[in-house]
Amino acid sequence: MSWRHIYSGPCWRLTGGNSKQRGRNLPRKLWKAAAKRPAQGFLNLTMSKLMIFHNILPGCEEGNPEAWRGFLTNYTPIALELFRVYSPWTPGARLEAWRDALQVLSADACAVLKGFSHQSEREFLVGLRAFLQDRAFAKLEPSQDAAVPPAPTAETLGTLFAGLPLMHQEITFLALSGYSQATIEKILRITPAVAEEGLGRLRASYAAVIERSEDRCLWPSAWIGISKAARANEQKDCTPLRQLIRILDGQASWYDKSPAETHRTKCLHCLELWNALQEVVAWDRTPQALPADGIEPLMALIPIKQEKRKPSLFARILGK
Ligand SMILES: [Zn+2]
Repeated sequence: MSWRHIYSGPCWRLTGGNSKQRGRNLPRKLWKAAAKRPAQGFLNLTMSKLMIFHNILPGCEEGNPEAWRGFLTNYTPIALELFRVYSPWTPGARLEAWRDALQVLSADACAVLKGFSHQSEREFLVGLRAFLQDRAFAKLEPSQDAAVPPAPTAETLGTLFAGLPLMHQEITFLALSGYSQATIEKILRITPAVAEEGLGRLRASYAAVIERSEDRCLWPSAWIGISKAARANEQKDCTPLRQLIRILDGQASWYDKSPAETHRTKCLHCLELWNALQEVVAWDRTPQALPADGIEPLMALIPIKQEKRKPSLFARILGK
C-alpha cells in the first residue's frame, strides 16, 4: 500500500482545513515510520505538508532538510505577519529581518533554537514572537514612531486600564498593539458590539488608533519596548504560560481560572503574555502567504546535514 493510498484512504478522517491540521491527525506510528524516510526523497512534498511540530524542531536540530522545509513553511508566514504589524518596514525589509533571524536560529548547531520550548507549538510560537520582537526592537528607530498621539508608557497604560474589565483591557491592549477593530474581533472571537464597547476608553486620547483600518502599530519602537519590559517583569504570582494555554482551551477549573483572571487585570506581564498567546493562535489558524519566491531561497541559509549516499549493490559487490 503506498503512502498516498494511506493518506487519501477513507479510514483516516483527515478533515482539517489546512495541511498542518491534516498532519496532526496522522496517527503517530505512521508518522514515526514516515519520519525515517525523508532524506531518501520519499514523497518529499507530502512529507513537508505533514510535518508536525513535535517532529519539526528535533529534525531541524539534526539538520534534516525536510524538517527545515516544514519549519519554514509553517513559521515564515507568521514571522512576516509579526513584522508587518510591529514594524514600519517594507515587505523586502521584513523578509530580510526573517533571513537574519533564521541565521541566528540555525547557527552553532541550532544553539538558539534549542532554547525554545519543545513541549507545545503554542509555547514555541510565543517564544518565537518574543525573540522576533526583540530582534526588531534592536533595528527600530524611535524617530519612526508616530508623534501624535504620543506613544503610551507603562504609566499611561496603568491609568488607561484602571478599573476596566479584563475583556476591555485585552481589547485596548490589542488596539494599541496595532490591530483594527475587525482584526481584534477575529483574534478574540468577539462580536462587533463587544469590541466597540471595549474600545471606549481609547476614544478620548487615542481616537487615531480606533479610526485606523489597517493592522499596524503606530509606535513600533515604543510599543515593543513596553512589551519587552512587561515580559521581563514576571512576578512569583504570575500565571505560567502553560496554565494560560489550559485556560484558553477551557481545561482549567474555575478555582484556577478565576484568580489568574483577577491577577491579570492588575498585571501587565500577564496581560502581555495572554495577548501574545491569543495573537499566535490567531496567526496560526489564519493561512498567511509565503514569500513570492517560496521557501527555497531561505533554505539556502540553513546548514543542512549532508546525507551519505548508500553505495549501490554493484559497488558493494565489488567492495567499493
Ligand atoms: Zn502577572
